[in-house]
Amino acid sequence: MKYIDEYRDSSLVKPLVRELKKSLTRPVRLMEVCGTHTMAIFRTGIRTILPEGMEIVSGPGCPVCVTSASHMDAFIAMAEIPGVRVAIFGDLFRVPGNTGSLANAAARGALVEVVYSPMDALELARNNPADTVVFLGVGFETTTPGIAATILAAHHEDIDNFCVFSTQKVIPGPLEALLQDPELNINGLLCPGHVSAIIGAGAYQPFVDQGLACVVAGFEPADLINGLILLAKQVGDSTPKVENIYSRVVSWEGNTRALAMVDEIFEPADMEWRGLGVIDDSGLTIREKYQKFDAQKRFDIKLVPTEEPKGCLCGAILKGQTVPPQCSLFSTRCTPSTPIGPCMVSSEGTCAAYYKYGRDR
Ligand code: SF4
Repeated sequence: MKYIDEYRDSSLVKPLVRELKKSLTRPVRLMEVCGTHTMAIFRTGIRTILPEGMEIVSGPGCPVCVTSASHMDAFIAMAEIPGVRVAIFGDLFRVPGNTGSLANAAARGALVEVVYSPMDALELARNNPADTVVFLGVGFETTTPGIAATILAAHHEDIDNFCVFSTQKVIPGPLEALLQDPELNINGLLCPGHVSAIIGAGAYQPFVDQGLACVVAGFEPADLINGLILLAKQVGDSTPKVENIYSRVVSWEGNTRALAMVDEIFEPADMEWRGLGVIDDSGLTIREKYQKFDAQKRFDIKLVPTEEPKGCLCGAILKGQTVPPQCSLFSTRCTPSTPIGPCMVSSEGTCAAYYKYGRDR
């Protein structure tokens, strides 16, 4: 605990707050790529101390939020197949698709289990041999190694009643596509801490080569404020580079063992993102060698193009083009208890963050 407390210590944080104000020598527009950063920045009140001229927009780093409506409908269709038991992380339970949510499916009798890890889903398969357990893989590089390890375990144990519906995504490529939009006008990236633990800080060098400031930061107040200071200085001095201030977790090359395991199980595939459409090689599909664990192939699930919920601006929010209060449904028809889009459901969603911490500001 002391390890975390060090980064919350007011004797460390207060001078950083003063330094933040001085660090800004020209206006900057920054993107926090990671949903956990979105929440941490709100929760710690950092938005209230931003110097005038510093703007932070959210990026596409909430995995539940970027899951397309057509994938949500496919998940629900999967859950309603007799003999299928779907295993999910809790955030997914109430995300609306066009045919309701997994919560609605569960109320109709579908078997939907909330698990804390893919290994829990494999345990469900061991304990329920009459059902086929399908783990719904919704995440970025952070969760992919755990899924790969689970598929390997299932392979070694020759378990037949377990498979994965992979919508796993990778961050750098889509981020690059997003940043091509000249109207976005971003100067720097607060790079995700958890994803970077796997892919390494070096993954952001291509963004630096395009003139963007990059800082990999953790999630405590001192981490976040220090990250913003360094980004402001890089932009002010026109010296973009990758700075890693989360070295207690993140290395330059990343977790090479985890990356090798992911490469054994998965291969790149085109993937649909909410708001961003289909992006080449932005997702991960299960390799031929392990195809018996690929739920989409096993059940021949086809994606049906689906409209986004009417009036929902999640797509634009995920591209940094707008903020939740600009949505006419925010805090009126769309609230955490009556969510219309995923950005209000997910614990890392920008709309949920604004609703919880930012409505009065
Ligand atoms: S407030 Fe609700 S409807 Fe509006 S963008 Fe957010 S999730 Fe979508």
